[in-house]
Amino acid sequence: MSKPSFDAKTLSDSLRATKHQPRKRFGQNFLHDRSVIREIVESIRLERDDNLIEIGPGMGALTEPLLAEVDAMTVIELDRDLADSLRIRIGANSHPNFTIIKDNAMNVDYRALYSAERGKLRVVGNLPYNISTPILFHLLSYADVIQDMHFMLQKEVVERITAEVGSKIYGRLSVIMQYHCNTDYLLTVPRGAFNPPPKVTSAVFRLTPYVNKPIVAENEQYFALVVRETFNHRRKTLRAIFKNSTLLPTLSEDDFAACGIDPQARPETLSVSDFVALSNQAKLLEV
Ligand code: SAH
Repeated sequence: MSKPSFDAKTLSDSLRATKHQPRKRFGQNFLHDRSVIREIVESIRLERDDNLIEIGPGMGALTEPLLAEVDAMTVIELDRDLADSLRIRIGANSHPNFTIIKDNAMNVDYRALYSAERGKLRVVGNLPYNISTPILFHLLSYADVIQDMHFMLQKEVVERITAEVGSKIYGRLSVIMQYHCNTDYLLTVPRGAFNPPPKVTSAVFRLTPYVNKPIVAENEQYFALVVRETFNHRRKTLRAIFKNSTLLPTLSEDDFAACGIDPQARPETLSVSDFVALSNQAKLLEV
């Protein structure tokens, strides 16, 4: 069934009007499928007084429907031409509480966007795929001022982030993200929903940072090191990984037993709390 879409038309019109050539280096794939846009916006379940932040608004495909749901909104756009044309489309007079930050999302101090009055941040974005993981890690360092995050990424990355323990794709990204956040896979988005279409299928997911983490590592940096180092050798047993690693201490059978972990197990079978137990135990052996 063909479904002529009003938004699709206005968006491609505005692409032509601004003569904007999508810039590959900025990871520009603009959403134009109206039903996908609606599904994304609905999945966020906004309240009018939310402190909404959008990363990479581009031509405003998500921005305009999002702005209709809230009283105030801040967007962060690296491409100055796009930021300027967005300012023209979303006038300061009609939308006095619409703020544009022309900057790299990696340089933004998200804490400065938080206040007790405005509330915690609700971050949204069809992220530039080439820098998606650094942006996610950057945002995790502000988890205490973030209520939740809704992002579009390559489906494969979203599957890794939300993967269950034991699955083939469960890895470093799953453990680190699931340590800090509750993760939800929300919807799959086909390539044709974008202009230009990206090379791969995309998906939208939600990260909700824990206010109280279910389990806390005694040393989070060390925990991250253990997770990285073990998944660098995901086919080996834990016993062998700890024995051969120059970064980690050798663990005895008693050490493994104290964590309730089989030394013959492989990293992908360990839950987040197993990794926390293992890193706490290994840290004890460091001087
Ligand atoms: N949200 C829009 C555009 C998605 S394309 C839509 O769904 O149609 C990704 C957008 O992120 C582009 O506008 C690109 O210019 C912007 N961008 C790329 N790298 C960025 C960065 N480091 N910080 C902020 N914005 C960035």
